Amino acid sequence: MLLHHRLLPRLLLSPSTTITTSLLVHRTSLFPTRRILSPCSSALSQVAAPQTIDHSDDDVEDPPLGELQVQLPLDRLFVPPGASVSAGDTEAVTARVLKGSNIVLGPYARGDANVINADFVKSSVRPDDCPKDGLPEFALVGRSNVGKSSLLNSIVRRKRLALTSKKPGKTQCINHFKVNDSWYLVDLPGYGYASAPQEARTNWDEFTRNYFLRRENLVSVFLLIDASIPAKKIDLDYASWLGQNKVPMTLVFTKCDKRKKKKNGGKRPEENVENFQSLIREYFEAAPPWIMTSSVTNQGRDEILLHMSQLRNYWLKN
Ligand code: GDP
Repeated sequence: MLLHHRLLPRLLLSPSTTITTSLLVHRTSLFPTRRILSPCSSALSQVAAPQTIDHSDDDVEDPPLGELQVQLPLDRLFVPPGASVSAGDTEAVTARVLKGSNIVLGPYARGDANVINADFVKSSVRPDDCPKDGLPEFALVGRSNVGKSSLLNSIVRRKRLALTSKKPGKTQCINHFKVNDSWYLVDLPGYGYASAPQEARTNWDEFTRNYFLRRENLVSVFLLIDASIPAKKIDLDYASWLGQNKVPMTLVFTKCDKRKKKKNGGKRPEENVENFQSLIREYFEAAPPWIMTSSVTNQGRDEILLHMSQLRNYWLKN
């Protein structure tokens, strides 16, 4: 039996309506700023005023600093519990979408989004060994080398916290980090080592699968996908398994600062992001939340924390 809370979007709009949202290309902006409307403005970074970028040259070099304007159909937004969006209100909806994501900010995002402290708690080899205090948790998982340790360190603003997970003997463990003494970030073993013969299959360890299905206080899995390369089958398999098993999932696209287009048909991060989603769409009843990040520029860091805050606070209330 699945014990997770379902966090399904509530859309009151025609799916064909679109909103314009922006994908942050670089954190530092040369342009005037405005604030996203939010119940938790202290945790938000400022957003650059929109800058239209011409993609027509499709050259090796990428666009300069600024934001890309993208059209998101409303049925692809993640509308969190307690929030709703309505047809006549596209401007207000646009203002509530976290930048570089499809996530609408709702009433459960609070001032608890900032990280005050974070500590390694324990490594477990079985779900039954995990902490039993019932605090809400978010699990980070992804192919090895996807940038999981870097993202974890970026989220908690510590350079080496995630090194714990890389120590010999710990890489195949479930590693719990406690944040603000009130919730957990969980580092799960990386999957998909290139040499594994079964790479094309969903071959992650049985215990990780059990963890997903049995951990009652798992609020959402954060599945990390490298946005600097085209979609990999093993990642698509992983995402579709989570979708089919109705495990709440957020797609976290990493390395979005890697913007040099390769001459041999390489794609920009936002193209890889869009492509990945179109390949997994059929496995999800409603669009899963997704967000673009970079541990180099800290893009997406504040947004992930706000997203976690609203999921967590809803979970705690229900
Ligand atoms: P893990 O194996 O998933 O924990 O990945 P790591 O965090 O150790 O990162 C793997 C490699 O990717 C390292 O060389 C990192 O420096 C690099 N990397 C990680 N995150 C980013 C990112 O956001 N941007 C760029 N350009 N490189 C990154």
